[in-house]
Amino acid sequence: MKKIIVLILLFYSIACFAQTKMFYADGSEDVKKISLTFDDGPGKATKQILEILEEKNVKATFFMLGARVVDDPETAKAVVAAGHEIGNHTYEHINFYAYKDEDKAEKIEKELLQCEEVIKSTLGIQSFLARFPYGYMKSDAIEATKKHNYYLINWSFGTDWQDMSAEEMHVKYKQAIKNGAIFLMHDLSKNKKVLSFLGTFIDEIKEEGYEIVTVSELLNLT
Ligand SMILES: [Zn+2]
Repeated sequence: MKKIIVLILLFYSIACFAQTKMFYADGSEDVKKISLTFDDGPGKATKQILEILEEKNVKATFFMLGARVVDDPETAKAVVAAGHEIGNHTYEHINFYAYKDEDKAEKIEKELLQCEEVIKSTLGIQSFLARFPYGYMKSDAIEATKKHNYYLINWSFGTDWQDMSAEEMHVKYKQAIKNGAIFLMHDLSKNKKVLSFLGTFIDEIKEEGYEIVTVSELLNLT
């Protein structure tokens, strides 16, 4: 009898742990699904990215900066109107790996909540997906996201900020196609390199038999 109780408790704690998973950098290896994510916008590349996504009939996840939504609410609204998913990328894009002030924990929380407030008031959305700048994911970030009911989402591959040709970049993205991949790209600057291959890249993902879905769909998060 004791053994059975121990087993039940063990299964219960495993189930609880699975349910409380708050951090993801990719989805299930067993499903042929992939997500495209765009950070730091709304920005100069957003509208063109929206056009490509519409042409290819694909929904993506945009991790927006609160300060950028304040600067360009119309573009942010266009992303929502096109049916894409919105994530919280904090307000000002502070690099918390380099942040040494004593108020770090409060600042992390403040950055998250300030962006949340802008997304709510401008777009009417309560996002539950957060991504800190530079993929910051130390315990203080995990704590803040948990406390405010967010999942912390990083990525499995991204390289569009590195110095290389568009062709090389395209090859690298293509090589990273896999079950559960979360691709990171940026829409703040013109990002001509990504724009030059995004449409083809989407076709290639589909040709390999993958479905492109939002992050919440990829990870079954609600
Ligand atoms: Zn960023």
